[in-house]
Amino acid sequence: MVEVKKIFVGKSNMAMILCPGCGAAKSVNVEKFRGQQKTLSVRCKKCDKNFSILLDFRASVRKDVQLSGYYKKFGGEEWRKVEIKDLSHTSRTGIRIAGTHDLKKGDDITIKFTLNNTNHSEIERTAVVRWATDKEAGLGVTDNVPYESNLGFYLRSLP
Ligand SMILES: [Zn+2]
Repeated sequence: MVEVKKIFVGKSNMAMILCPGCGAAKSVNVEKFRGQQKTLSVRCKKCDKNFSILLDFRASVRKDVQLSGYYKKFGGEEWRKVEIKDLSHTSRTGIRIAGTHDLKKGDDITIKFTLNNTNHSEIERTAVVRWATDKEAGLGVTDNVPYESNLGFYLRSLP
């Protein structure tokens, strides 16, 4: 049986294709497939593995999650524990947290948590508080890491 990998396509029409056999990564322009929902067969030039990909042209994605995380205000010492409620990605990554917090709109913080993917990727990002209520806050990630590396990639690869 051939497994189908879903691949996210960025605004620039570039897709990062990872070989499930040898892990080789290749960035490919897939503009000509935009607007189509189809599975493509790919053969890895390095290890000869055949696999199938499905291109995902969605502009944004959001995922509810249940993760534990910690944040620290810029210049602060103390890490505070919060729950990560959802992750989203459009042109930037957004994070909604819940728990007892002391954040207000405009605060700059560092947020860290571990993804429940197979690699248990450790995420640590700087973010700005976009909104805050008593028990929740919305964060916008401010550091510039390509979404193909960990977080955005994790979001896009979820079913
Ligand atoms: Zn390969």
